[in-house]
Amino acid sequence: MRYISTRSEPGHGPGLAFDDVLLAGLAPDGGLYVPEHVPKLSSELASAAGSRRYSEFSYSELAARLMGPYVDDAVDRDALEAMVADAYATFAHPDVCPLVALDDDHWLLELFHGPTFAFKDIALQVVARLFDHELERRDDRAMIVAATSGDTGSAAMEAVAGRERIDIVVLHPAGRTSEIQRRQMTTLDASNVHAVAVDGTFDDCQDLVKAMFNDQAFRAETKLAAVNSINWARVAAQIVYYVWAAGRLADERPVTFCVPTGNFGNVLAGHYARRMGMPIERLVIASNTNDILSRLIHTGELAAHDVVPTLSPSMDIQISSNLERLLFELFDGDGEATTGLLAQFRSEGRARLSAEQHERLRAEFSGDRLDDRETLEVMGRVHADARMFVDPHTAVGIGVAERCRRPGELVVTLATAHPAKFGDAVERATGRLPDAPPALAAVADRPERCASLPNDVAAIEDFVRSVRRG
Ligand SMILES: *Cc1c(COP(=O)(O)O)cnc(C)c1O
Repeated sequence: MRYISTRSEPGHGPGLAFDDVLLAGLAPDGGLYVPEHVPKLSSELASAAGSRRYSEFSYSELAARLMGPYVDDAVDRDALEAMVADAYATFAHPDVCPLVALDDDHWLLELFHGPTFAFKDIALQVVARLFDHELERRDDRAMIVAATSGDTGSAAMEAVAGRERIDIVVLHPAGRTSEIQRRQMTTLDASNVHAVAVDGTFDDCQDLVKAMFNDQAFRAETKLAAVNSINWARVAAQIVYYVWAAGRLADERPVTFCVPTGNFGNVLAGHYARRMGMPIERLVIASNTNDILSRLIHTGELAAHDVVPTLSPSMDIQISSNLERLLFELFDGDGEATTGLLAQFRSEGRARLSAEQHERLRAEFSGDRLDDRETLEVMGRVHADARMFVDPHTAVGIGVAERCRRPGELVVTLATAHPAKFGDAVERATGRLPDAPPALAAVADRPERCASLPNDVAAIEDFVRSVRRG
């Protein structure tokens, strides 16, 4: 299996193998890596498993089988199986991603039973192990730097904690994350993970990370690496729960998935599951007030609006980075045309798909949005009807799924965060605070460890040098 950049020209040279794509993150031309071909489910599973049905595999068995062809010979199968099993042993639920019925034809796929209680754990727990394994093989080290406004930082830190060959520094805007999100980062007891509160905004934190990556001497000296949502390995790990859920519910009956969407990484994995041959009817993109993607589906135009803070902060996004992978397909693998559309969007704030591209997009994707008032209403109603707490991201998904649902359609909404992670919103909607799982409650009592630094690249770089091991 080889990977090419979404900015490469038709007739490009040979692509990269999985291990290089894993460590590189972004391609040198600024594009995102995509697989050159998509493996077919039927042959992959059949050859590995005889006549077993999807529903007979455990989650981690299925994960190793589905990720196998993407990883190809970059990691041997026994090592991959061991890493995947180890990653999902950190999950609190024996099914890893359990399905829970809302009604006869509407299910929730709970993706939040990992160590930090949001769906980012599913990919990052595997990706950190793949990183460590590959660095071991190369006898090398990496320093991961990242900026976070919420869930990604803690999931990455938790996944990297205690790994031999990786250190991690995560920047967050001082005073601007929720208490629980900050504590998840600052109370980790591992000497290779470092939380930094920056005197600035989330955008400042992102700019600091970019500046470090652009400082070539610093980048080489500290062996900087990234695990943000454009890393292909994260998408590959996320394909698994689509196959898992569809296999358990339906076998051959097509399923529609409704996905609370921000950077488009989650729903893109559903698109790949479909391309691999899974019977998926539609993929429904659920947005909050920041609805650039659902507008794209309705109008065929990417049109920028200012980002508005909402109750579902992990979806407060202007332009979804992973969209570039889908655009590359809509341009039939023409990197120049893909880059052109994105450049136009960046400079003019808008860019339009052709009628034919818009039609192809709409054949597979639907989308709609929910504002905060509607989100709270869904949270209240689900609690009243089903005695269940749901977090605001999941509620956006449920509300959009209900609105877009066709008669007789089997719908699975992805539940992306544990309700206790967003206790304030849950209390506003239902008048009650959900019980926090013990591991989440425990962060309230642990001592915090966090550096406070100015919004200054030199100061952050000095800090990174000072904490780097080896
Ligand atoms: C990251 C995140 C999302 C958005 O996922 P994308 O892959 O960025 O589209 C939705 N909900 C929660 C809770 C998240 O942490």
